[in-house]
Amino acid sequence: ATDMGIDKALKTLGVVYINEGTSTGTNSFSSGSVIESYSPVDGLLIGQVKTTTQSDYEKVMDSAISAFKTWKIMPAPQRGEIVRQFGERLREKKEALGALVSYEMGKSYQEGLGEVQEMIDICDFAVGLSRQLHGLTMHSERPGHRMYEQYHPLGVVGIISAFNFPVAVWAWNTALAWICGDVCVWKPSEKTPLCGVACQNIIAEVLAENNLPEGISCLINGDYRVGEFMTKDKRIPLISATGSTRMGKIVAQEVAARLGKSLLELGGNNAIIVTPDADIKMTVIGAVFGAVGTAGQRCTSTRRLIIHESVYEKVKNALVEAYGQLRIGNPLDENNHVGPLIDLDAVEMYKSALEKVVDEGGKIVVEGGVLLGKGYESGCYVKPAIAEAQPDYNIVQHETFAPVLYLLKYSGDVENAIAIQNEVAQGLSSAIMTNNLREAERFLSAAGSDCGIANVNIGTSGAEIGGAFGGEKETGGGRESGSDAWKVYMRRQTNTINYTTELPLAQGIKFDL
Ligand code: NAD
Repeated sequence: ATDMGIDKALKTLGVVYINEGTSTGTNSFSSGSVIESYSPVDGLLIGQVKTTTQSDYEKVMDSAISAFKTWKIMPAPQRGEIVRQFGERLREKKEALGALVSYEMGKSYQEGLGEVQEMIDICDFAVGLSRQLHGLTMHSERPGHRMYEQYHPLGVVGIISAFNFPVAVWAWNTALAWICGDVCVWKPSEKTPLCGVACQNIIAEVLAENNLPEGISCLINGDYRVGEFMTKDKRIPLISATGSTRMGKIVAQEVAARLGKSLLELGGNNAIIVTPDADIKMTVIGAVFGAVGTAGQRCTSTRRLIIHESVYEKVKNALVEAYGQLRIGNPLDENNHVGPLIDLDAVEMYKSALEKVVDEGGKIVVEGGVLLGKGYESGCYVKPAIAEAQPDYNIVQHETFAPVLYLLKYSGDVENAIAIQNEVAQGLSSAIMTNNLREAERFLSAAGSDCGIANVNIGTSGAEIGGAFGGEKETGGGRESGSDAWKVYMRRQTNTINYTTELPLAQGIKFDL
């Protein structure tokens, strides 16, 4: 980020720096109380946005519903062309948006850039997909009849996102929803509102250049109360919500109560199994990046290592050594590996997890702690920690959104490790490190990992946009991004056409007049 100072980044993105006034972006409908965004990097106020009130929300919905009328009848490849232009604009603004992500959320600049790259990738994917929204054709049982299915746009898609991927999750949803003919209303996390404003500014520019209504992409601001405007709103057929399992359970019930659809991307408790046949060097790199990348604040962060007793000490020692090399500090400085947690509440949860694991009988292997002094003024910088634990500890069963890694030992067969891996409530990402084909295949079989993502010889953290992303059990069951995830953003219609002069009924039913 060194070439891209934060002031310059904010200007490039049209997000006004606090010293020069209030940052509103194009979010002109918001008139409620002010949300201030403080950077976890240096504790300084970056900017502020206004909360969306109920009456602002009505205006937003009017603009979305009206935009849907134009957008849904535009041919899908033409919608793809708009997404292509959006992807191009993201390429131009990649450094600026990456820097803002890093500064407002606290992840490393490289990961901020990676997040924007993910947005670009999903745009490319969506552009191609805009010519491939295929349905099937079927053979009718009736003579002179033809059957097929087609996919139509759903309507307004509500997107609720988490702080840790403040821009990419929005793009995963919007790029697909847009080519599918839907319009989107987005409520970003109240912890990263300026990233929301920046994204809205970018798409608003593209829409204006194409004489299209901005209602195709709408932004609302605020906390869960603003999210509830959407979850309770019958005019929104699909709510895509990313965040904690606690949030997902509430949102799922609200949306189900009105028989809407929800796409849930919730918490993970991801493990890497390390078998006697693992490549230890690769294991250590995968585990360390998985555990400390984004300061342990990825839904796919590695939280548990399930290590065979025969290699346990070796892996443990290698990890302790690797953790000794970690540099913690300003994430915009590319020499640092680990940035801050999002806020002081997150620091409290981290401290409490370390206390709990010790209370339950665990042993700290790499000491944690909060960093103080020069460069750490925000109070959000913590030391990545490692603890030896038992799989059934209460704290090990929970997702702590911080760099805390638990070492769990298994003996005997790989089945024992798979059982430990599966015995948590969450089911997002999982991995096995092994050069043993039989172990790898058992891990991937129906009797293997119960997660939405199962990897061999790579860690749990991070994913490419080409695959469907999501997880089972308390992770919520939703799938986003690649593969056929687009189908959730459309409604399927089955069509039967009769080209005869007879009217035969299905199942041979006779009905003569
Ligand atoms: P969070 O649940 O606190 O908030 C997420 C979003 O939900 C925010 O925008 C928040 O305002 C909104 N929200 C909360 N309660 C709501 C309600 N009752 N109605 C409507 N909206 C509501 O989560 P967070 O702290 O921002 O993010 C961290 C969590 O997100 C972790 O559990 C992480 O694993 C999960 N996550 C999952 C994925 C995934 O793809 N599975 C991706 C990123 C993050």
